[in-house]
Amino acid sequence: MNANILVLVDHFNGALREITFEMLGVARNLVDTAGGGSVQALLVGEGTAGWVSQLGAADTVLLLDEAGQELLSPDLTLTLLERFIEQKTASLLMLGGTNLTFGLGARLAMRTGLPLVNFCRGVQVVNGAIVCTSALFGGKMLIDVCLPGECGILNIAPGSFSPEAGKVGGTPAVREIPKPAVEEGAVFRRLIAPAAGDLDITKCEVLVSVGRGIQDKENLPLAQALAEALGGAVSASRPVVDQGWLPLTRQVGKSGMTVAPKLYLALGISGAPEHQEGMKDSELIIAINTDPKAPIFDIAHYGATVDLLDLMEPLKAAVEKRRAVAK
Ligand SMILES: Cc1cc2nc3c(=O)[nH]c(=O)nc-3n(C[C@H](O)[C@H](O)[C@H](O)COP(=O)(O)OP(=O)(O)OC[C@H]3O[C@@H](n4cnc5c(N)ncnc54)[C@H](O)[C@@H]3O)c2cc1C
Repeated sequence: MNANILVLVDHFNGALREITFEMLGVARNLVDTAGGGSVQALLVGEGTAGWVSQLGAADTVLLLDEAGQELLSPDLTLTLLERFIEQKTASLLMLGGTNLTFGLGARLAMRTGLPLVNFCRGVQVVNGAIVCTSALFGGKMLIDVCLPGECGILNIAPGSFSPEAGKVGGTPAVREIPKPAVEEGAVFRRLIAPAAGDLDITKCEVLVSVGRGIQDKENLPLAQALAEALGGAVSASRPVVDQGWLPLTRQVGKSGMTVAPKLYLALGISGAPEHQEGMKDSELIIAINTDPKAPIFDIAHYGATVDLLDLMEPLKAAVEKRRAVAK
């Protein structure tokens, strides 16, 4: 079989996103294992031509470096992708499941009739067919989906693949493409950064992160005291922030911050994919959870199945004692 793949380059705020390299790595691997085909990368946006040299995992870059296109425009991108499908430029499309591109796959599938696989966390060639592993119910269930042919749209879940395989420098061929006439329903006007004021958790070396397992707002000071003893700060999963117990600036995950501290102590956090997306690259992950099957243990370096409420105070005391001895 041939795997002719088109990867939509994902970028935000003037930088390529890691998901771009994840997709390029997967695409390259598919072409190599399929025994034939090509990888093309669609790069759309103002001032993006300078990134071509980072996209060496692609054979060709289709470039639309257009003034006024700071972010990916959904309607413009959709029109381009639809044309490439019609013109048979590629048979398999890869989109990143990010806030900018997530809705594109479904719209494109409706327009073209191509099959769409969402939340892809695995893609491989099995007996000449493309088999994708898709995460359902927030990652609680994984299902293998076999594409009926060589054509399809894959929405790749960020954080599912190593970006390193796609980080290949080089000089792929560049094909400049003209901007099609598009009626844009949604237009990017400006980026509004969140208000500063609270601590920036992306800069903390130690994070004590609390999840729904903390149970009550009244228990937060215990986590705060432990964080202080460890020389760090408190962060949280989304339910804790949604309840208003901590500000949004402390949320880790897909719709929060991406952190990579030296120590990430996850207290009562199940480890849903949306949470893992924001912390999986932490240097040392220690998970405390009463459920031994909690997915956080899949990525934790160390873990304990104990009640966090029994642990926080003695752990804080032990840390303080160790620090006092070290002085
Ligand atoms: C589009 C989208 C974006 C999202 N963005 C984010 C995001 O940015 N960040 C995020 O975190 N989530 C996000 N989510 C939500 C995510 O899917 C999960 O629902 C959420 O991460 C679960 O939070 P949790 O682990 O704190 O809670 P739960 O999944 O309820 O887990 C609580 C855990 O605590 C354990 N526990 C309970 N009591 C104790 C105890 N006494 N001691 C020890 N362990 C205990 C339980 O065993 C359980 O594993 C998003 C979801 C969607 C759909």
